[in-house]
Amino acid sequence: MKREGNTYASGSGGKDKSLTPFQKYLSKLALICDTQKGECGRTMTALVCLKGTEGPEYIFTSNYRKETELKETKSFLSNLLIFIGTNPDKLGAKPLQKQVLWRSLEFNFDKLEFYLKALTNALENCIASENGRKLTDFQTIKQLHSLQEKASFPRDIESSENARTKCLSDCETLIKAIQANKTGVFEKVLQSRTVEKDANSADNWCKLRHYLGRLHSYRQASEIIVAAATTWPDLFESPRIDFIRSAQKKHIPTPKTSNLSQIIPIALPEHEFRDFESDIAELRIYDLDEIINKQLQNRRIKTMIHGEVHLHNHLVQQGKTNPTDFWNDSMFIATSKPTCRLCQYYFNCSTNNFQVQTSHMNLYPKWRLPDIPDYQSSEDRDLYEDLLQDIIEQMQHDTLQMLEQKISRGKTNDSRTDSHSRLSTTASYLGSGLSNLGAERQGTSPRLPSPSSDVGESWIDIENGGYHAR
Ligand SMILES: [Zn+2]
Repeated sequence: MKREGNTYASGSGGKDKSLTPFQKYLSKLALICDTQKGECGRTMTALVCLKGTEGPEYIFTSNYRKETELKETKSFLSNLLIFIGTNPDKLGAKPLQKQVLWRSLEFNFDKLEFYLKALTNALENCIASENGRKLTDFQTIKQLHSLQEKASFPRDIESSENARTKCLSDCETLIKAIQANKTGVFEKVLQSRTVEKDANSADNWCKLRHYLGRLHSYRQASEIIVAAATTWPDLFESPRIDFIRSAQKKHIPTPKTSNLSQIIPIALPEHEFRDFESDIAELRIYDLDEIINKQLQNRRIKTMIHGEVHLHNHLVQQGKTNPTDFWNDSMFIATSKPTCRLCQYYFNCSTNNFQVQTSHMNLYPKWRLPDIPDYQSSEDRDLYEDLLQDIIEQMQHDTLQMLEQKISRGKTNDSRTDSHSRLSTTASYLGSGLSNLGAERQGTSPRLPSPSSDVGESWIDIENGGYHAR
């Protein structure tokens, strides 16, 4: 069976482990502001908390949101923090968490519907594969049916207040059941099924675990946000919320060719095509040429600045580069999803003092650096050139490693590393890596700002199914 190289996060929230409680709090705020699925990453939100003169000043942005959407998000976040801070009904922690959960679910309803639908599909597939087993595990089938029953409620929050209350309450009940399953036998079955030999069945269970985890993340968020109000009440005292407009999409130069023998010398100028001929022949079986062609087509559409890089650039421009500028002295740019590979490279650079969440190391074809404004000094321009060079070197290192070792560094929870799926995934990453690198080399800086128009373009990531571990 040909596998598409899709990856599913475990949904366990394990990636949060390295974050401090304060960083987790900011990340959960970012998470509940990232409301859309599809158009992958459009509403991905990056957020920081500055020390304001009157109280905390939260600043956020998204990969590509319209101004009206940013205003709606600002209003949601502002109302939520004020509600928690003032707690007008003097609610205890649990009922307050419920209120935060309901508000978050309602604001994220589009995404929630997507998750519920995907969960329902995954449950159906897992039930089918359980029924097909030689030794039927009746207890597991019962648990799956119970989840299926809890997930099948009318998705209606608009027709009436009663419908809204019922829908949010049903959703909360489902999330409670997910929580209850986390400590039981079901969790162990779930873990074991995701690594079993039958690739089809394991994929279904990976999806199930992923969507259970996504839905559960709203409960985690409400717990962490309410706990933060007890630990740091000042964070909720007269909070000011601001956003910066998403960066405009724009074209940047890309190689005119997608022919591998011409791309290699552009992407890796110190090397020749024949150095890698046998490696490439092996990966061509897995559509390397087609992937590169597709990636370059994507880049030719329009590139965008990812939210965390855009926010970082804004803070640097504003001179907010000292720990004392930030709440808790924490120069942490929270993101609703782990950073991608190129953002990771950006933040790896020696001149950066900000922290971001650990990367999933996926590559996105339309990534670009912020522009350098005209008015910047030659020193700033040199720093920008160094940054670009640094990123290119890190990309080159990765690309060479992928070519020679045929192992991609993208995050996958797939422990069934059969050579077919490994090479197929490597071809995907390498195709993306080579096209990104070729484009960066071709479009070498400086990249001055150029006028560009907004279009509602969807954001296609390298994984064909549109699912990824973000
Ligand atoms: Zn990124």
